[in-house]
Amino acid sequence: MIDKLKPGARFDLHLHTTRSDGAFPLDEVLERCVAARLDAVAITDHDLVGDLDTEMRRIDGKELMLIAGAEVTGQHEGQEFHLLVYFPGPVQQGFRDFCTSQIKGRAARYETALSNLGMVGEGPDDAAWRGERAVTRFHLAQALVRDGRADNIGDAFSRYLRAEHGKVPQLDLPFVDAIRIARGFGGVTSWAHPPLDAFTRYIETFAAAGLQGVEALRPGLNRTARRTYKKACQRLGLFATGGSDWHGWARPQDLGLHSVRKHELKDFLEALAAA
Ligand SMILES: [Zn+2]
Ligand SMILES: [Zn+2]
Repeated sequence: MIDKLKPGARFDLHLHTTRSDGAFPLDEVLERCVAARLDAVAITDHDLVGDLDTEMRRIDGKELMLIAGAEVTGQHEGQEFHLLVYFPGPVQQGFRDFCTSQIKGRAARYETALSNLGMVGEGPDDAAWRGERAVTRFHLAQALVRDGRADNIGDAFSRYLRAEHGKVPQLDLPFVDAIRIARGFGGVTSWAHPPLDAFTRYIETFAAAGLQGVEALRPGLNRTARRTYKKACQRLGLFATGGSDWHGWARPQDLGLHSVRKHELKDFLEALAAA
C-alpha cells in the first residue's frame, strides 16, 4: 500500500479527533487532511485505536492512506511520557482490549480529579466508561472554564491541572511496559514529543525496552534538539517519525502546514512494512 505513494508524498503521523481531545470528529479530520493535500495520515488519539485499521480510503475523489495508531500515556520515574504506536494492517484485538482498559482507567481518574477539584455533575459520559472515548486533562480544563473556575484552558492548567497541584492522579502504566505491550501486539513505536532533558536521560532505557523511533520531525524544534535526536537515533539505530500533533482547537486551518515527506520516513516505513 505504501509503495503506491510517490517519494514526495506528504505524511502527518500525529493527529487527534473528538475520540480524545481533538476538536473535530474523525470523518471531518480525514476530509480536512485531503483538503490540506496530505497523502498519508495517522490518527493517534490518546490511549485509543478505536475501530481503525490501516487502509486506503477514497475521500472527496482522492486517495488518503490511513495508518491506524494510538498515543499511549505511560510514566517513568514520576514523569508522564507519550508513546506513538502504529500498525501496518489490521489491529490485533488484544491491543484494542488494552486500549479499552486504559480508557476506562482514564474515566475513573477523571472522576477522582473532579472530586479533588470540588466539582460535581460533570462526570465522564457513557462512551468514556465504555472505553470508546478518552477523557483527558484537556476535558477537565474545559470543565473548569465552563464552571467559571478558570478564564481559559491555559489558566486552568496553570492553576489546577499541573502534576505539582496533585489533583489529577497519574496514569500509572510504566512507559517501558507500554513499549513492550505495543510491540507484543505488532505495533511500531515512537516516543512522542520527548522533552530534551528526559530524552537524554532515558532514551537508552527506552530503546533497551524495545522503543524503535523518536518523533524528531516536529514543527518548531531548534537546532540543538534536532541534533540531539539525530545523534541518538544514529547511535541506537532508531528511526525518526514526524507529525503536527494537530488537535484543531486554536488554528484548524494549520492542518497540513507541517508535513513530513515519504523519503524522510524511509526507516519508519521499512519497520512498518516488516511489523
Ligand atoms: Zn502527546
Ligand atoms: Zn498528541
